[in-house]
Order: sequence, then C-alpha cells, then structure tokens
Amino acid sequence: KPVIQLRDITKTYQLGDQYIYALRGVNVTVNKGEFAAIMGPSGSGKSTMMNMIGCLDQPSSGDYLLEGLPVSEASDDGLALVRNLKIGFVFQNFHLLPRQSALENVELPMIYSNIPVKERRERAIRALQSVGLGERLYNKPSELSGGQQQRVSIARALINDPVILLADEPTGALDSRTSLEIMHIFQELNDAGKTVLIVTHEQEIAEYAKRIIRFRDGQIVSDEPVLGRRIAS
Ligand code: ADP
Ligand code: ADP
Repeated sequence: KPVIQLRDITKTYQLGDQYIYALRGVNVTVNKGEFAAIMGPSGSGKSTMMNMIGCLDQPSSGDYLLEGLPVSEASDDGLALVRNLKIGFVFQNFHLLPRQSALENVELPMIYSNIPVKERRERAIRALQSVGLGERLYNKPSELSGGQQQRVSIARALINDPVILLADEPTGALDSRTSLEIMHIFQELNDAGKTVLIVTHEQEIAEYAKRIIRFRDGQIVSDEPVLGRRIAS
C-alpha cells in the first residue's frame, strides 16, 4: 500500500535572477512498512526531497500524494496539520529543548492534541521506556550522551504515532557504535511496521535499510533494494 507517491516533482529556487533546480522530475513510491535510505552528494536534493515528504515545503510542480491524499494541493495551514499528524522528524543534532527534561521534550508534540495531561505523561513514559530510557525521564539533554539524546528525539518523533518517520543524518553526530544502536532502533520500529526514511552519507549505515535511493543533481540515479544488514539485539 503506497504511503508516499511523488510524481514528476520539480523544485526550483530563485536566487537573484537565477533559477536553481533542486529537484528535477523525481518519481518515487514508498509503500507502508518500507525502510529506505536516501544518499547522494551535498547539494543533490536530499534535504529538499525530505522537506517535501515531511510537508515542510511544497513542490514547484508535480504531485505529492500522502496516503493517497494530494498534499501538493494543501494550503499552508493544511500542510502544517498534515505534518503534525502524520510525520515524525529526527535530526542530526537532536533539536531537543535544553531546559526541559527528556519527559517534557517527548510530551511536547502532544501539546496540540486533546489528550488529558495524565495520559500524555503515561504515553511519554512508555515511549521513553521503549527506547531504553526509562531511567532517564527527568534528565535534561546536557545530562545525556549523544546516543541517549537521539533516543529522546526518536521517542518524541513517535509520540503521535506518525505514518512516516523521517530522519535527516540521524547518526551524523554519533560514533560508530552508537550509530549502530540508533540503526537498531530504526530496524525494530520498521519490523513493527513503521515506514522509515533516513538520509545518510555513510554507505555502511545505508545498508541497514532495505532500499537505497541515490540522488545526483536533483534526480534519482539509482533506486535499489539492499540485502539488509541486521543488528543483533
Ligand atoms: P542536499 O540535501 O543533497 O545537500 P539540498 O536539497 O539542500 O541538497 O539542495 C539542492 C540544491 O538546491 C542545492 O543546489 C542547494 O544549494 C539548493 N537549495 C536548497 N535549498 C535552497 C533554498 N532555500 N534557496 C536556494 N537554493 C536552495
Ligand atoms: P543540512 O546539511 O543540515 O541538511 P543544508 O545545507 O542541506 O543543511 O541546508 C540547510 C538549510 O538551508 C535547508 O533548509 C536548505 O533548504 C537551505 N539551503 C540549502 N542550500 C541553500 C542555498 N544555496 N541558499 C539558501 N538556502 C539554502
């Protein structure tokens, strides 16, 4: 079942009197339960495509269907709503609020929901337990390692049960052992049925996904299944 359908997507930016083509004629379908890695040199369009899939930005032309619904026709408010309901984001540098505890950071995306406070807390605790941070609920980001901070951000990304988990260089700030721990969490989430997309520069990291999509100059130059390295529990 298709979750993401990008049809002939282009994205141009105007810089002075010049037009820059960030994406030129991108076609991709991602089905529910896929785990794809996006690769490509700097400037090849990866961030632009992730921003579009994440409903942070609209294409200049082409159609984006998310669960069959035409996102590319949505207003800015509509886009924000879809983003909050359907997308979980994970970033290279975690983007956690420094003065808030792990628990408060994970509760944050529920602020716009009408879930009662007590249930929000219980949900956030369960999410942190599921990423192995049940003992770190009240620690602030500065009291956690990089890997632990990334786990908090994964728990936060998942708290509203998004349709897609989008991670932009999620292991870029982590050492290799910690990177594998994070990839292990993504594999477990994907095993449980979550659709996961990550951007990475590292071939080794990409091989823990099930599909590698490569960009060059705003176009997809290869899109292939991978044998899927596994990380043992
Ligand atoms: P990547 O993520 O692969 O490094 P990007 O999607 O960030 O690539 O960029 C693709 C191209 O679009 C690059 O040439 C970049 O400079 C350009 N670009 C991206 N965002 C903007 C923007 N907001 N304004 C102008 N040009 C941009
Ligand atoms: P990162 O490596 O953290 O993804 P990027 O260099 O891809 O950072 O881009 C960071 C932000 O700057 C993105 O929102 C992107 O759209 C924007 N950007 C990238 N290239 C340009 C550019 N040439 N002009 C203006 N904005 C750009």
